[in-house]
Amino acid sequence: MSKHDLKKIILHESEIPRQWYNIMADLPTPIHPYYSGQTLKPAVPEDMLAIFPKSLIEQEFSTERYIDIPDPVREMYKQYRPTPLYRATELEKILKTPARIYYKYEGGNATGSHKLNTAIAQAYYNKEAGIKRISTETGAGQWGSALAMACQHFGLDLEVFMVRCSFDQKPFRRIFMETYGSRVFSSPTDRTQCGIKIREQYPDTQGSLGIAISEAVEVAAMNADTNYSLGSVLNHVCMHQTVIGLEAMTQLEMADEKADVVIACAGGGSNFSGIAFPFMKDKLKGRSDIRFVAVEPTACPTLTKGVYEYDFGDTAGVAPIAKMYTLGAGYMPQSIHAGGLRYHGMAPIISKLYNEGYIEAKAYDQVNVFEAAMLFARTEGIVPAPESAHAIRAAIDEAVSCVDSGEERVILFNLSGNGYFDMYAYDMYMRGEMKDSSVDDNEIKRSLEHLPVLE
Ligand SMILES: *Cc1c(COP(=O)(O)O)cnc(C)c1O
Repeated sequence: MSKHDLKKIILHESEIPRQWYNIMADLPTPIHPYYSGQTLKPAVPEDMLAIFPKSLIEQEFSTERYIDIPDPVREMYKQYRPTPLYRATELEKILKTPARIYYKYEGGNATGSHKLNTAIAQAYYNKEAGIKRISTETGAGQWGSALAMACQHFGLDLEVFMVRCSFDQKPFRRIFMETYGSRVFSSPTDRTQCGIKIREQYPDTQGSLGIAISEAVEVAAMNADTNYSLGSVLNHVCMHQTVIGLEAMTQLEMADEKADVVIACAGGGSNFSGIAFPFMKDKLKGRSDIRFVAVEPTACPTLTKGVYEYDFGDTAGVAPIAKMYTLGAGYMPQSIHAGGLRYHGMAPIISKLYNEGYIEAKAYDQVNVFEAAMLFARTEGIVPAPESAHAIRAAIDEAVSCVDSGEERVILFNLSGNGYFDMYAYDMYMRGEMKDSSVDDNEIKRSLEHLPVLE
């Protein structure tokens, strides 16, 4: 039996990485600085102290290549890490592809997605800083669930502003978070100034991530014992996710394989960063020509149709302004089932690497994505999260493109989460009631008219 015949590559607990990889150390040119949403002037770390602990702000700006994972964080990682790397043998067979497909499965933990990797770290650093309570937003509910579990573990209170349409559509997600002791509100609420303002202006709004972020940041800024926590986009969040790629590198070596292409879905960019950045290191140094593909929904085509400009991180302009690919902070994407991919912006580091040609991007319609999700469930057995199914779609297309050429391409993708809370979406698909999302280019154009004018 050759090493290539492994179905599942597992590591020992002692092989959980001891450090995160910080790609800031290896970027060809430094990242563009943040601006303050209030003053429109360059942001200083002190601006962020009202809502983040000092340790995380230091990580946000750090250019150290490796940063130690604190023991209590690594202890909690042990509950579910290292995660398995699977070879998608059954999927390969049905596609009749000579390509070898591997996937890193981040949906096997208690809350079902990769988000726990940063939730644990963020809860820990806030606890260390003496914080009593965290406020956050959640779209589809995966981030809120992960942070709820982590806060419960470290003894912190959590308030979650959940986008109204998800709050109404996904009661089980709310109850799940409440089971871990969190309080969950339907955003926009009447608990914050920006929530009240939005409700007056748009009484029928279904909410958005941008609004929910504004509310959560406001609560943190107004209360000394409360900090804010973000589940994606920021540098330190992307860095915490690199445990995914660091493990996958070791696992591929064990299988005697070298990845030709690395694929992940991209909402704010954290799971993509997690799997890709450790592999990107060699490419940045000109030592590898591995390809990277970020996959997004056509309903929220941040990389494929957005612009690379400074923009607000949230609706009310309370969060920092970053240079990133954006559809405009006021852009309201259609309510597709992959709720976790509906953010208007993209992580600044990914934006920069995409702009410089290190990353490719693809966008898919949701029916096409669910077709891939179904095929995956019926071959590999795991029902994927709708977000993760975007990566599956792209991986399948890569594998199919090898059929005629006979190329034995090695494809690695990140299966960022499971879809067990998304059965309603699967039901819609199977009943033939799922609609393709459309995107209105004029809508994007209009929302891009409101980019900030910086000093
Ligand atoms: C939140 C989420 C995403 C999208 O967020 P990124 O920061 O882009 O990773 C993707 N997959 C799952 C399962 C998620 O929960």
